[in-house]
Amino acid sequence: MARFTDKVAIITGSSNGIGRATAVLLATDGAKVTITGRDAARLEETRQAILKAGISATNVNSVVADVTTAEGQDLLISSTLDKFGKINILINNAGANIPDSQGQTRTKCSIENLTKMFQLNLQSVVEMVQKVRPHLAKTRGEIVNISSIGAGPAAQPASPYYSSAKAALDQYSRCAAIDLISEGIRINVVQPGFVSTGFSTAARGLSADESVKFYDLMGSLPHCIPAGYCGQPDHLASVIAFLVDRKVSEYIVGQTIIADGGSSLVIGCHAPRQ
Ligand code: NDP
Repeated sequence: MARFTDKVAIITGSSNGIGRATAVLLATDGAKVTITGRDAARLEETRQAILKAGISATNVNSVVADVTTAEGQDLLISSTLDKFGKINILINNAGANIPDSQGQTRTKCSIENLTKMFQLNLQSVVEMVQKVRPHLAKTRGEIVNISSIGAGPAAQPASPYYSSAKAALDQYSRCAAIDLISEGIRINVVQPGFVSTGFSTAARGLSADESVKFYDLMGSLPHCIPAGYCGQPDHLASVIAFLVDRKVSEYIVGQTIIADGGSSLVIGCHAPRQ
C-alpha cells in the first residue's frame, strides 16, 4: 500500500516550484490532493503533471485562490471537504519575497511592502492553521510550514521584511506545535536554501532563463552552496513528505529541518575548497 493511501492533503502554493513537486509526490504515493495558487494556467500544469504520473483525476481538487484572503482560504477548505470528506495534511508552502511597488530596496522598502510580506508569509499560515485545526484534530493530522534559511540567524540585508516574516513563522510554528500536539496535530517546519523554482522570477524580476542561470551560478560557488549544485524542488518535496508521514517521523514535533546543501553553515572565509 502506498504511504499516503487514504490521506487528504492541502498543499498551498502548488501551482509552481516546491509546492508542485510536493503535490506530485504525495499524489503518486496515494494521497488525494488539493492543489492551489492564483495563476490558473500554472495550476493546470500541476494538475497535468499529476495526471501524467498516472493518478486519477478524482484524486485531484484544483482550486484557483489567493491564500491571503478569507474567501480563498474558506474555498480551499470547503472544496476539500466537499470532494474528499476530510483533511489529514496541511502544507503551508505559499510564500514569496514580494518586490516593493515603489522600487525601493533593503530597509527602504515601504510599510505597505512590510504588510504584504507578513500577510502572505505569516498571517495566511496562522489563518489556515486556525481554520483547518478542527478538521486535523479529527484525523490526528500533520502540518508542515515552509520557511527559509533566510529566517536567520545570519542577517539577510537584501530582504529584511521577507526574512523577518519567515523568522516569525518559525517561532509561531514552535508555539503552535506545542499548543496543537495536545489535540494530536503535529507541526514541523522545513527551511529550504537555494532551490531552482519561480521564486527568483518573482523576487528579482528575472526571466525564467535568467533565473535558471542565477541558480546554476549559486550552485557553482562553494561559499554559497557547499554541496556544489543548486537544490531542485524534488529535494524539498521528499523532506516535506517525510515530515507528514507519521509512520516514519511521529516523534518529531515543532522542529525545523534545514535542506540547503550546506549554505547556512558556511562562513565566507571558510568556504574555498583546497
Ligand atoms: P515559487 O515562486 O516557484 O512558488 C511559490 C508558490 O506560492 C506559487 O505556487 C504561487 O502561486 C504561490 N503563491 C504566492 N503568493 C500567493 C498568494 N497570495 N496566494 C496563493 N498562492 C500564492 O517559489 P518556491 O516554490 O521556491 O516557494 C515555495 C516556498 O519556499 C515559499 O514559501 C518560499 O518562501 C520558500 N523558499 C524558497 C526558496 C527558493 O530558493 N526557491 C528558498 C527559501 C524558501 P501563484 O503565483 O499561482 O499564486
